[in-house]
Amino acid sequence: MTAYDRVRRTVGEINDLLCTLNLATWDARVQMPARGGAARGRQLATLAGVARERATSNELASAVDEALPLAENEDERAELQRVRDAVATLRRLPDGLVDAIAGHRATAQDAWEAAKAANDFAVFVPALRETLRLQRAFADALGWEEHPYDALVAHYEPGMTTARVRALLSRLREGLLPLLDAIVAKGVPEPEFRRKEVGVEAQRVAALHFARIVGYDLDRGRLDASAHPFEISFTRDDVRITTRYRTDYFPMSLFGTLHEAGHALYEQGVDPRWVRTAFTTDIVGLYAVAGTSYGAHESQSRLIENQLGRSAPFWDAHYAELLATHGDALDGVDVNAFVRGINHVAPSPTRVEADELTYDLHIMLRVEIEAALLDGTLAAEDVPKAWAEKTEELLGLEVTDDRSGALQDIHWSAGLVGAFPTYTFGNVMSAQWMAAARERDPAVAPALERGDSGPLRAWLHENVHRHGRRYLPDELLGRATGSGLDPEPYLAYLREKYTRLYAL
Ligand code: ZN
Repeated sequence: MTAYDRVRRTVGEINDLLCTLNLATWDARVQMPARGGAARGRQLATLAGVARERATSNELASAVDEALPLAENEDERAELQRVRDAVATLRRLPDGLVDAIAGHRATAQDAWEAAKAANDFAVFVPALRETLRLQRAFADALGWEEHPYDALVAHYEPGMTTARVRALLSRLREGLLPLLDAIVAKGVPEPEFRRKEVGVEAQRVAALHFARIVGYDLDRGRLDASAHPFEISFTRDDVRITTRYRTDYFPMSLFGTLHEAGHALYEQGVDPRWVRTAFTTDIVGLYAVAGTSYGAHESQSRLIENQLGRSAPFWDAHYAELLATHGDALDGVDVNAFVRGINHVAPSPTRVEADELTYDLHIMLRVEIEAALLDGTLAAEDVPKAWAEKTEELLGLEVTDDRSGALQDIHWSAGLVGAFPTYTFGNVMSAQWMAAARERDPAVAPALERGDSGPLRAWLHENVHRHGRRYLPDELLGRATGSGLDPEPYLAYLREKYTRLYAL
């Protein structure tokens, strides 16, 4: 067996362990009985621990060193370099720190739940302080130059820095706020149809239908319900999604399903050659995933949910199919009113309820707070005050309590500091893919006008999905669009769309 084969075998085993871990996670979030949590937590920790042991073993490190100079082509070299870098990063993380971060997660989650129940951020503060201490140590172990937040941001989005994030967000802010002001000044009330009752079964039928329409392969996937929707894969041939049904707000399941189906297309579309390799395994994050970064993954879900799924031509072509299940709720609502309604803009204090236009403002607020918490310029106990100030400044809203303010997100209690910016990267990238697809393949735009997303999806498959983690996000974007992360196509898309919908 060559050194390269030995690398492949070990990474394949790591991938098997992590796919199994994903399966146990899916089960925990979809159908596990309530009392199963503690035992499942131990099982997940054991699987992650064994995967980490394999990844940091001397055998793997020496096999990579032996194989690299013998690489036979660019793909092989890139694959081996990816493994080498991941192994080096993992080895820099002290065992004690990794265990402490994992061990603190349950404590922080409990504290967050208790704080939400009491509607009092102060209850969460001691746990948050410990999270920040651990994340700061994690950042130091990963290494950073200008700002400790750099290390955490790059952990989720390789190549990103705090400075790049801030420049991107400030440009978005400049573009978004005037547009939002103009829309709010119009005073358009929320359309009533969105709150009309639609039964769960009707929503489920529609969700499956529209997931298929956008290309989700149900022979290699399935749709279930869960409190927090997600997509998860156990190799390209078993990629599952969930959605959430609210009988008093059917857009939740409809657009939530399109969103997760967009994630699933990425996972289902990866080249079979990359299955069980470093190009479908996040070795540092100990996560089996084909998407090259959180932001790139989110760009696929946002593209399907928003750029495609909230567009007028899509519904011109498919509205009748929705009426088949949602006809009572949509009685008297023509397709133009429907499209306006699903794109209704209304600033809300809650991120997960935010519309497309205000979503990134929620991210800006969190990024500023996270970065300041991490470098010590903001103390944990002062978060609610900062939260209220920034909500007023960005969304023009008053925060009335901690539960709907600084306690609304699960991220900090889950130890996910630095992940928020990836939602905005996803939005920004989604517009870049769309613009490039239209520009570079003449079949894409006319097909979209007819409600046919086939050529668009073929372009995405060719330029994004099939590569898995073969290229880092900047490289992937550069190859397919000719530029790096650039907010201008996204701002242009939003300006054009809302100017038209709101007759600005
Ligand atoms: Zn997503």
